[in-house]
Amino acid sequence: MEALNNIMRILFLGAPGSGKGTQCKKLADKTGLLHLSSGDMLREATAKGTEAGQLAKGFMDKGQLVPDDVLIKMFEEKLSSPECAKGFILDGFPRNLAQAKSLDALLEKLRSQLNAVINLQIDDHLLTERITGRRVCSNKTCNAVYHMTFAPPAQEGRCDLCGSALYQRSDDKEELVKERLSAYHSQTEPLIDFYDAKLLLRTVDAQGKAEVIFADILKTLDSQKKTSNRN
Ligand code: AMP
Repeated sequence: MEALNNIMRILFLGAPGSGKGTQCKKLADKTGLLHLSSGDMLREATAKGTEAGQLAKGFMDKGQLVPDDVLIKMFEEKLSSPECAKGFILDGFPRNLAQAKSLDALLEKLRSQLNAVINLQIDDHLLTERITGRRVCSNKTCNAVYHMTFAPPAQEGRCDLCGSALYQRSDDKEELVKERLSAYHSQTEPLIDFYDAKLLLRTVDAQGKAEVIFADILKTLDSQKKTSNRN
């Protein structure tokens, strides 16, 4: 997977429940790239009670997108920091066209650009089951993700990796899933065409087992790299 090491700035697109977080984490573990999850960053800000976190909470609790300026400021600070100089994996940002255009402007300012956009493709009817069955490790440095049916922990309610309690995110409850999927379709899905037009988009079938999907992602990134080397 040597060629993959040269791809440094990767963006993941996919509906809530498409397995984006899981795949980004696997890729970060394999490559050492920094995994930047907008949802995790917002939840951390909310837990710390920062100004941005307090503002974000009201929107997150309703399954709605947090205002663009909060996200743009958060990512401007993060992407300009030295820890991002060696590359990153973006997970959950951008989530609409305004954010995507701001990201373009920011990367241009940093004399940088995305190398690939992976779109995790999955049928809507599978998403609700995936989201409502999801359980997350309460230890913020672990953040491991399980599924009650598809990837249960060895001991019910406990993380296999660190033993901390698992919990269900409040926005993973069924009442909010419809709202989040509708936000995805109306606001985030247009980004598929946006990045396709930039010849960055690679679509991966995200309906099988996590390991198989991950292998497809690695293959896709590898071939993307070889294509850009030829051009
Ligand atoms: P996630 O963990 O990616 O499912 O995100 C959880 C929630 O955080 C979303 O339902 C939104 O309320 C908020 N959020 C995460 N990323 C963004 C973003 N790029 N723009 C606006 N809101 C976001």
